[in-house]
Amino acid sequence: MKFAILNSQIIERSEARVDVEDRGYQFGDGVYEVIRVYNGRMFTANEHLNRFVKSSASIGITLPYTIEQLTQLLEELKEKNNLQLGTIYLQITRGVAPRNHPFPTEEIVPTLVAYTKEVGRPVESLATGVTTILTEDIRWLRCDIKSLNLLANLLAKQKAAEEGCFEAIQHRGQDVTEGSSSNIFIVKNGTVMTHQSDNLILKGITKDVILDLCLKNNIRVQERTFTLDELAQADEVFLASTTAEVMPIIEIDGKKAGDGQPGPVTRKLQELFVQEIERQCGNL
Ligand code: PMP
Repeated sequence: MKFAILNSQIIERSEARVDVEDRGYQFGDGVYEVIRVYNGRMFTANEHLNRFVKSSASIGITLPYTIEQLTQLLEELKEKNNLQLGTIYLQITRGVAPRNHPFPTEEIVPTLVAYTKEVGRPVESLATGVTTILTEDIRWLRCDIKSLNLLANLLAKQKAAEEGCFEAIQHRGQDVTEGSSSNIFIVKNGTVMTHQSDNLILKGITKDVILDLCLKNNIRVQERTFTLDELAQADEVFLASTTAEVMPIIEIDGKKAGDGQPGPVTRKLQELFVQEIERQCGNL
């Protein structure tokens, strides 16, 4: 039997249901997180929960839980579901109210939901790399909020899936922003580059771990906007996310990315990333 969190209760997953007038269901009026679990331990849990609080605050949802309470709840859920290798999905919506665009004026209780999923590491893709397509970034101007409104991301990912590709690399005109569910990195002459964390991208937790690993290991790194030309001329390209880790990109729109194979800097970062997982969660 599997369990889920509904508000502050851990209940049977099949019993976890929300009202049809939940604003998350009707408007996507909420935010979420996905936290990786390795060896039964959460990886970068604090970073994810801090971003969860920040995303909530930025749309005016006050979390009725402290980070310590959330951590405790998620730990309990993980134990009850005996999750060793997988993810915890966590979301909060503004709550249930008669359908109307403005925020309800009366106090409503935000709806918190969490559940777990068993997900292996994508070891094969990590070794061989993945293919991608390019697509115009048609999202709004607050991509820094990890909002439930993912329709533009879904359309981008669907386009990639229809082409048999793993990810869609989004760009605003000439400027590359991020993947539909990942951050994008290029390597040129030994320097790692990725879009600065502003309103046009999600500040990925994996991205931040990678930037930190670069700094600690004397790998030159720049957080700045790069163009489609720079992407095409890059020595190496990779993407990063909670579930995909440090994933080499070997093809973009049917053309080779770099020399069409996972590059040496990408490989080095994969190795450092695994060491960081093992430092926090034990040997893989
Ligand atoms: N950008 C977008 C749009 C995403 O959906 C994700 C994955 N949630 C990321 C970047 C990567 O973020 P993280 O490393 O925190 O998973």
